Amino acid sequence: MSSTIPEYWDVPTADAPREARPIGWCLLLPAVLASLVVPTRLGPRIARTSFTKIALVHVAGLALALAGLLLVTGTGSLAVLRDTFQGPLTLSEKLRLPFVAATEWLYEMSQVPGALLPLLFGVVAIPATFFVLAALSTPILAAGERTRSALARATKLVFWSVMHGVLAIAVIELTRRLWWTDIAECLGSTPGDLPEIVACLLALLYWRQALMRLGARYGGPPLGPGWTPRRPLCNGCGYVLTGLSPEGRCPECGLEIARSLPEARALPDWAQAQWPWQRAAAYVRAAWTILRRPQSFFPQLAVQRGREEALRFADWTCWLVGGWAVLNAGAAFVVERVSEHYQSTPGEIVLVLAVFLLAARLAAWVGWAALNLLACMLTRRGLRPITVTTCYALPAFFLLPVLVAAGGWGIAATYALHWEEYIWRLPGLAGKWGEILFNFLFISPAVFAVAWSLRRYARALRATQYAAA
Ligand SMILES: [Zn+2]
Repeated sequence: MSSTIPEYWDVPTADAPREARPIGWCLLLPAVLASLVVPTRLGPRIARTSFTKIALVHVAGLALALAGLLLVTGTGSLAVLRDTFQGPLTLSEKLRLPFVAATEWLYEMSQVPGALLPLLFGVVAIPATFFVLAALSTPILAAGERTRSALARATKLVFWSVMHGVLAIAVIELTRRLWWTDIAECLGSTPGDLPEIVACLLALLYWRQALMRLGARYGGPPLGPGWTPRRPLCNGCGYVLTGLSPEGRCPECGLEIARSLPEARALPDWAQAQWPWQRAAAYVRAAWTILRRPQSFFPQLAVQRGREEALRFADWTCWLVGGWAVLNAGAAFVVERVSEHYQSTPGEIVLVLAVFLLAARLAAWVGWAALNLLACMLTRRGLRPITVTTCYALPAFFLLPVLVAAGGWGIAATYALHWEEYIWRLPGLAGKWGEILFNFLFISPAVFAVAWSLRRYARALRATQYAAA
């Protein structure tokens, strides 16, 4: 090693991409089917394909989903379609069927008084939802490219992934028709809305997973912060360290220069753990350090690499939040059994717990993705280091689900003990506002938890701001 700090670090941050070819018109249909089976393989090629082709696949997917729903639910009935085409259908008519079905359905809906507004809302809301999903996924999927090209790539993948949604709907409908009653019988409950909610949550989870796999590999040109040489900066203040001795201190803030070198940062134990039990132990160790001594974790964390491991860490955290929700919902069933208030069937309990597990897990994921996006927008740094930092900073937010649950239990307990009646007996406005204030008393710790966690998160971002590795 040279005796002075060089002008640029030559430590690579993003992997060298293998350039992928765009998908041609002839291969579009096979590519749609292949992307359902091997999304990781097709992802880089989809990201290189033109927006026109992506839009075509997306519209076809939406039409397929809509037509499937219409045929299954019977709305916009087949009779209307037969009237439209008169007699047996030719192949070209069959191919146009989904689009005709969609138009017919839209026409019928526009005739229903008061349905136009929700319809218009749906027309705006569906593409808007896809764009929001693309924006949320951009920092997570970014490989090292510029923000704009990362957004374009995420948008293409999200709009293409509607095909995975179609597949999920088809599977749900098939199981509903074939085995729903058997599943319900097996669980000892009547087939109400709960199995459908569980199925929809599972479908959303599958969709998210498919999207992550589509974006796992990058096949574009090596342009962007991930492939640009980085200047050696002081970890404490961002001072350019070029030409200084590695043994010295930063002339600006006095921090030892050794702590700003790439060797000062490493992947956490978690990234090296191979087996599930090793991972579990490494997870607990990492989460404990992040909660108790973040100042000894983030300044030594390598954020320019190890994205896969970091995302897995975030995934574990989201499942943990789901598990916590299950624990609380399960406790509510125990209370119900003890108080003999109302007896749920085992099937209902299983389904409700599944709803809690999946919904809390998804909510945690959306929360962390939104936080990550916000940090990327506010700080304007490379997307990848921020995503890695956010993944590891998540345990700092553990206080939130704990205090939300405690608040919920507090409210439930006061109602069970009929304490709220004392407030109602208060005269005038005091009685009216009393209940709101009373509930706020239990919710306010959650507000405190958000502020506390955000502060810690901001500190973690600051500690990795000038990371050399
Ligand atoms: Zn400094």
